[in-house]
Amino acid sequence: MKDVKVDPNEESPYECFQCGTIVHSAANPDQCPECGGEMRNRQVPLE
Ligand SMILES: [Zn+2]
Repeated sequence: MKDVKVDPNEESPYECFQCGTIVHSAANPDQCPECGGEMRNRQVPLE
């Protein structure tokens, strides 16, 4: 099994809930630059 490490210095894709804009950022952008919607880290699966 290959473990996927999360490197805090590595940029992660964040996806806007509202318009689907993808933002690559090392830190959570919090708000979508396009619509101001909520962003989520695509590398973290929702439970
Ligand atoms: Zn958006």
